[in-house]
Order: sequence, then C-alpha cells, then structure tokens
Amino acid sequence: MIVAIDGPAGTGKSSTSRAVAQQLGLTYLDTGAQYRAMTWWMVNNGVDVSDPAAIAAVVDKPEIVSGTDPEAPTISVDGVDVSGPIRTPEVTAEVSAVSAVPEVRARITRLQRAIAAGAEGGIVVEGRDIGTAVLPDADLKVFLTASPEARAARRSGELKGSDVHTTREALIKRDAADSSRKTAPLAKAADAVEVDTTDLTLLQVIECVVTLVEEKRATK
Ligand code: C5P
Repeated sequence: MIVAIDGPAGTGKSSTSRAVAQQLGLTYLDTGAQYRAMTWWMVNNGVDVSDPAAIAAVVDKPEIVSGTDPEAPTISVDGVDVSGPIRTPEVTAEVSAVSAVPEVRARITRLQRAIAAGAEGGIVVEGRDIGTAVLPDADLKVFLTASPEARAARRSGELKGSDVHTTREALIKRDAADSSRKTAPLAKAADAVEVDTTDLTLLQVIECVVTLVEEKRATK
C-alpha cells in the first residue's frame, strides 16, 4: 500500500501523514525534509543557492538519510542529525530555489523511490510531486488544500510568536515558486482525491484519509 499525500505548505500534510501511517501500521517519508536537508548542506558549505549550475555540480555530495518510523521520523546529513537546523527561516527561504534544480530533484527522487520500494508493509509519502512524478502508480493519492488564511494561521501557531501576515506572505511566495518551476511542480495528480481542510480539524482530516486508505485496501 503506497499512499501519496501532496499539497502546499500549511495544509496539515505532515501531521496527517504521520498519524495515518501510525494508525495503519505503515512507514512514513517526509520528502520536504529531504529537500530541506539538501538546502541546509548547500548553505552550510557556502554554495551560492542562486546559481543552479553551482548547486548541480555538488548535488551528489551530501549523504541524506531518512528514518521512516512515523513515531519518530529522522533526517541526517553525513551522519549528523539535522532535524532542527532544516526548519530555520533561512533554510525555508532558500529551499524552493534549491528544489527547483533538476539535478537536485533527480537525486532526491531516486532516494524516495528506493525507500518506497523497500517499504514492505507500505508507506505514506508526503510532498509536492509524489502523485504526479515520484510515485505515479501509488495506490492512493490525496491532495490537501486550505485557504491561505487557514494555512498561515496554522503555520504561525507552529512557529510560536511569528506574525500571521509575514507567515502568509512567505507561504504564498514559496507555493508560487513551487507551483511554477519547470521540473515536477507542486500539482494535483489527475487521479488524486482533493480534501479541502480549511474548515476541518486535524482529527477530521486524519479520519478522512484513514477511511480513504481503508476503502482502497478493501478493493486490493
Ligand atoms: O514540506 P516542506 O514545507 O517541508 O517542504 C519544503 C520545500 O521542499 C517545499 O517548499 C518545496 O520547495 C520542496 N519540496 C519539493 N518536493 C517535494 C517536497 C518538498 O520540491 N516532494
């Protein structure tokens, strides 16, 4: 059972994907964390992230390892736990530019497909291009959406103290960059189930996706 969950930032993708994986005994892969880890490495190694050729030249250097236990997902670069540093505003501001580079996507897509292929009991993979590009044969594809206001309110709640207006502007900018890039943009797959989470609680979204997976399982 391979479940692809895509959508823009602040729709509850990570919380939903982890909870669904936990409830159904599946593993979990946060692909945003992989792009963030690549970006963190670039910034830390002085690579000019506005220069796609400079990024492409070193794309194979960092060793990025994802732990897929939904109870405690991990991400490391060259053996160092980077789960904290990849969430800084600096990495968040640069990640869209790094993830737009085709060589970055090719490398990370390979990692993602290898992890999904090795997940014997099934996996929930969350991101932006999972249903469209990484795992087009996924058993179930879900596309989460929410109004920009709801997404900004949720995100500024997570980033305690940050103001909603600044968060909203940053989210809109990142989504526009992710949706307009040439290679594997953020998009809903034609066969994805769209769930608008604007007026739903997290528990309702989780329940909805669990039901979709169970329905799929019953027909397999
Ligand atoms: O999900 P998260 O907000 O952590 O993703 C960070 C960034 O990683 C996104 O804004 C996007 O630029 C990139 N990303 C991507 N493809 C994915 C997952 C994330 O390009 N499948």
